Amino acid sequence: MTEITRSIEEQIDQLHTGGIIDMHFDLPMDLYEKRQHKDVLETEFLPEFEAGDISVIGAAIYIEDRYLPEAGLRVALDEVARLYAETAASDRFAICKNYLEIQAARETGKIAFLITMEGIEPLGTDLNQLRVFYELGVRSIGMTHARPNAAGHGGVFAASGSSTEGLTAFGREVVQECETLGVIVDLAHINPAGFAEILSITTKPPIVSHTNARRYYDIERNISDEQIRMIGERGGVIGVNCVLVSPKEQESTLHHYVDHIEHIVNLIGIDSVGIGFDFFEFIYRQWSELKQKELAAKLTTPHFIPDLRNHSHVRNLTRKLIERGFKDEQIEKILRENWIRIFREWL
Ligand SMILES: [Zn+2]
Repeated sequence: MTEITRSIEEQIDQLHTGGIIDMHFDLPMDLYEKRQHKDVLETEFLPEFEAGDISVIGAAIYIEDRYLPEAGLRVALDEVARLYAETAASDRFAICKNYLEIQAARETGKIAFLITMEGIEPLGTDLNQLRVFYELGVRSIGMTHARPNAAGHGGVFAASGSSTEGLTAFGREVVQECETLGVIVDLAHINPAGFAEILSITTKPPIVSHTNARRYYDIERNISDEQIRMIGERGGVIGVNCVLVSPKEQESTLHHYVDHIEHIVNLIGIDSVGIGFDFFEFIYRQWSELKQKELAAKLTTPHFIPDLRNHSHVRNLTRKLIERGFKDEQIEKILRENWIRIFREWL
């Protein structure tokens, strides 16, 4: 190792001391699918989390189409149950429900889970279920995935064609109740009309937990420059996704991932960008070829970034940010500090 590379590695070590926060990971659904196995967290996930110095993870409840509508609530509860059981079986993790618990976990070297929900399908049309999931620890909710539901409509994986309607009456109730309870309102996936409506009926800083800039991948599932500015004006934070960096496989690179970060920073400043990796390859690989084809037909073919495919690769991102000229203080904001500010303001 040369003198220069050693010093960059030391710089990365230092930048990682406070840990990395990833606000979107489909962990609970995988734990549910592997519910016959024990210690999945410790054996399959912990090594990668540790290699990447991960300190907080937004662990997303998500219900696959095949369970809906009848089993949506039960599967969601089972996903939460598996996360609790797996967390209890290890001394390396903690499920956190507020800012102080997150900070306590970080200080004791534990990896904190913040339970999130991607699509309100588990609630059905019953606002009381929101209170139940709040008591179970859900602290961030995105109203929809791509499919429409009782709250509203998702953004399509095309440049146009999303519903022009905003939220339903139930969707507005859920958003307002989230803000009252202290559940972070996440604008990832919502269609443009719903996006604007959520901002019009909330006052706290909004988040988009995992998304990309339409400038580089023009689909309504991603966010436009105007939407990016709307988040910036409200002091919100946008987590940059690594599976929708480009429609082209050859452009799905770490360098281009940083272009998305840089674009958001140029529009609204360094205080509004964070990480929402949405690492998904480990699930995609478990699927049959038929199911992969269904995803391509229904949404898109995901292009995974070769050197940013899972949590063990985060050092590559930090190294790239250094190479691209980001200062230490800016990198720390991207890797964790901006999300910590959101936790402090909401939780
Ligand atoms: Zn998503």
